[in-house]
Amino acid sequence: MSVWDELVGQQQVVEALGEAVRSPQSMTHAWLLTGPPGSGRSVAARAFAAALQCDDRENPGCGHCHSCSLTLAGSHPDVTVLATEKVTITIDEVRHLVELAQRSPSQGKRRIIIIEDADRMPERTSNVLLKAIEEPPEKTVWLLCAPSPDDVVVTIRSRSRVMNLRIPPAEDIADLLVRRDGLERTVALEAARASQHHIGLARRLAQDPETRQRRSEVLQLAAGLRGVGDAILAAGELVDLAKAEAEAMTTQRDAEERAALLRTLGIDEGARIPPALRAQIRQQEEDQKRRATRAQRDVLDRMMTDLLSLYRDVLITQLQGSVDLVNIGQQQFIDRLATRSAPEATITMMDAIGTARERLAGNVAPLLVVEAMLLALRPRRAA
Ligand SMILES: [Zn+2]
Repeated sequence: MSVWDELVGQQQVVEALGEAVRSPQSMTHAWLLTGPPGSGRSVAARAFAAALQCDDRENPGCGHCHSCSLTLAGSHPDVTVLATEKVTITIDEVRHLVELAQRSPSQGKRRIIIIEDADRMPERTSNVLLKAIEEPPEKTVWLLCAPSPDDVVVTIRSRSRVMNLRIPPAEDIADLLVRRDGLERTVALEAARASQHHIGLARRLAQDPETRQRRSEVLQLAAGLRGVGDAILAAGELVDLAKAEAEAMTTQRDAEERAALLRTLGIDEGARIPPALRAQIRQQEEDQKRRATRAQRDVLDRMMTDLLSLYRDVLITQLQGSVDLVNIGQQQFIDRLATRSAPEATITMMDAIGTARERLAGNVAPLLVVEAMLLALRPRRAA
């Protein structure tokens, strides 16, 4: 067992980080771990942090000593993780980390600060961080995570050592799901493909039949459209589905966070909130509302990515390519769609989904975006 066990298909990164742990010459005080969502960048950051704190000199990153266990459980006092679901990381959050970075570790070998979504720092906030990265105390290590090196300002990038995680192979993800979560191999592999190599999503798909069912419904719904009326109705359904799923994901956490805040402020459950503390409660409510909106857009975007994968499979089938299908469980359905139109039409549909994703990211109202997309997905006669 080692701290690297859950980092799937990233041999090169594991070797480089392991080398940095073992030899002082390969170590540096700022790292930028990049990779597509679900590739394991935050897993890599935590594993690296654990290896740096590990008590085992011979085999750092053992995975079972006190320091490794504490770090992996997220409770090592000298490892701080900033994970946000807000659209942006605030300047105050970063100032707090910068201040923390000045302190010596309390019990570990180093003080390690992980920023999970370093791409969500506006430039002004990045500049606050930059100063801290330029002149760090000896024992402080910054681990920044982002989708790609271009997602952080160049001044930070140039002062960090960049580690690029690749998209993990589906086979490797399936291995992990079998080994770690005890899932059946066929289900695990199908989920790994369907998730398009997103480890967390793959696990959810493999573990939860309802998630699989919902995914398949989305594909059927979009591909079963005929007229304009269908498309408009289906758009409403899709947006509602996304809303429900996003709510399921956030509601419980919202309640827990609120309870925790009330406890911190010393207010009993159900008691009247003193006027002086209302601003704090309101701030939390606003953050949660923003998060819910973001979650709904994320779910919709994932649905669109799923749809894109479906039409990609259709196109591969139409062109009789020899590439693996993403949706291996939907072969018949894909074959049927493939005979229904020409490859050019499929490409047009894929473009329409791409445009919809851009518009969604650009803050256009979700219903409008989905309607326009579904109208473009209505079948065209084969030429
Ligand atoms: Zn250890």
